[in-house]
Amino acid sequence: MIPNSSATSDRSHIQDHQLIDNSEQRPDKPEEACGVFGIYAPEEDVAKLSYFGLYALQHRGQESAGIATFDDSQLYLHKDMGLVNQVFSEDILQGLTGKLAVGHTRYSTTGSSHKANAQPAVVDTRLGKIALAHNGNLVNTIELRDELIKSHFNLVTTTDSEMIAFAIAEAVNNGSDWVNGTIEALHRCKGAFSLALATPEGVMGVRDPLGIRPLVLGTLDSNPTRYVLASETCAFDIIGAEYQRDVQPGELVWITEGGLSSYHWSQEPQKKLCIFEMIYFARPDSIVHNESLYTYRLGLGRQLAIESNVDADIVFGVPDSGVPAAIGFSQISGVRYAEGLIKNRYVGRTFIQPTQHMRESGIKMKLNPLKDVLEGQRIVIVDDSIVRGTTSKKLVKALRDAGAVEVHMRISSPPVTHPCFYGIDTDTQEQLIAATKSVQEIAQQIAVDSLAYLSWEGMLKATGEDTNNFCSACFTGDYPVTIPEQIKGSKLMLEKAKV
Ligand code: SF4
Repeated sequence: MIPNSSATSDRSHIQDHQLIDNSEQRPDKPEEACGVFGIYAPEEDVAKLSYFGLYALQHRGQESAGIATFDDSQLYLHKDMGLVNQVFSEDILQGLTGKLAVGHTRYSTTGSSHKANAQPAVVDTRLGKIALAHNGNLVNTIELRDELIKSHFNLVTTTDSEMIAFAIAEAVNNGSDWVNGTIEALHRCKGAFSLALATPEGVMGVRDPLGIRPLVLGTLDSNPTRYVLASETCAFDIIGAEYQRDVQPGELVWITEGGLSSYHWSQEPQKKLCIFEMIYFARPDSIVHNESLYTYRLGLGRQLAIESNVDADIVFGVPDSGVPAAIGFSQISGVRYAEGLIKNRYVGRTFIQPTQHMRESGIKMKLNPLKDVLEGQRIVIVDDSIVRGTTSKKLVKALRDAGAVEVHMRISSPPVTHPCFYGIDTDTQEQLIAATKSVQEIAQQIAVDSLAYLSWEGMLKATGEDTNNFCSACFTGDYPVTIPEQIKGSKLMLEKAKV
């Protein structure tokens, strides 16, 4: 049962707080950009199915949520700041009628955190409205924005997603149909984009030519006339849909009354899925390349133990994302797996500052060490990544305060040395600890007895796939889509130094 909620009525005060850059509260992790969902299912409650799909994708974005449905040419839209279960109530969902829908959960990267930037983005065209949900980030927004303004489009948000919708509107208004108009617009977009789009006629799923962000296609109850699209397969499991296949890099699928048509719109598709989806972003129960990410993350831990074993009494992971790798590490190293940290499961992002007393007493809001497990132990703590290093340092201190006599940290990915331009918030290069410090210097800074990262080769080998099939630019600086100079300098210190 979805709670009846009035929580959508006034969140303007939250928006103001979300503009505050609060580094104390900001997670020391790369942050996911968005989750998208689409459904074409006449005679089903598409709004409710979208709600549950988004509920399963909540980990991909917690700032805003939205659903748009079409009942013939009539669009119904509801979006607001907050978690999926705060934004929607039974009453609101009952008002979202129709045979098709798209939905979105958002963490902002391009564009700040305002209600106006919540998605789906809706624009008018000569054929009717279009509602668009986007996961990713364009790298040619400056150029595209200028072109759209010249074409007299009134851009009301600060998101690249709205620009894609306007580019589609421009092509459609110039005479193209939905599919050709969308393809024309896609050729103007550079960067990472997985899209779910709704029109009065049908639903589209699109991936960029490199497939940087994921998008999967499923059917409802094995019925080939009722299709679903989602960022991850966990959104299918919750609504009883069956995974059919990935939408391919450079593919557009168009789902209407006549069934599903596929268009390979890019001349040079390549597979460059973001490797961080595998390591950390996607839910462990989601399936990528026919395997759950839990299994992949176990493999990362096994490989880590092969590369960097250490003599210790117990091993455990930083909950939740470090846990599978810690289990894998234990399986190969023989170091006993234990629970050393308890996570407060009901803590989300908070914008309320802790009191001075709480700060001074080192009260941990998210993770609490188990003193009786840690007392006198030599421990291995496994995490999936270190970004700025701020959380790691506090965590190591907390573990020592709880009685650990040695703290060895193992990271199930290589050092993050470069920022992401494709929809993941990884700070500027100066803020990335591994961009300026050696592994030994980082170990000293976070005060561990030893520190080791998984090798780049080991991370890719554990995928069991062709190692060329992934973007791993935040570990190597080898960006698969060229980053224009104007935006490169904003995040890359090497480029800044050249200016
Ligand atoms: S740069 Fe890193 S986070 Fe960004 S898409 Fe590539 S692998 Fe993923």
